Amino acid sequence: MPNATPLTSNTPLEIADAVNDVCPWSGKPIAADALTLYNGAVVGFCDPACRDKFARAVRSFENALQARRAESAGINQ
Ligand SMILES: [Zn+2]
Repeated sequence: MPNATPLTSNTPLEIADAVNDVCPWSGKPIAADALTLYNGAVVGFCDPACRDKFARAVRSFENALQARRAESAGINQ
């Protein structure tokens, strides 16, 4: 059987694969050192600070969703 290709966060992201051309925060062109993955797609920002701001926002939403799922799990069953 073939070896599975490991999908790790260390896989280098390519700016050419980014789904957007400009930073959603600033409107400036995205930078090669400010890429991250969102829903399996490469998304870009103008600098790492903007990327980290996005990462914090996503984490905050994910935590809120998880809390809501845990809450409604008992209600919908
Ligand atoms: Zn930016």
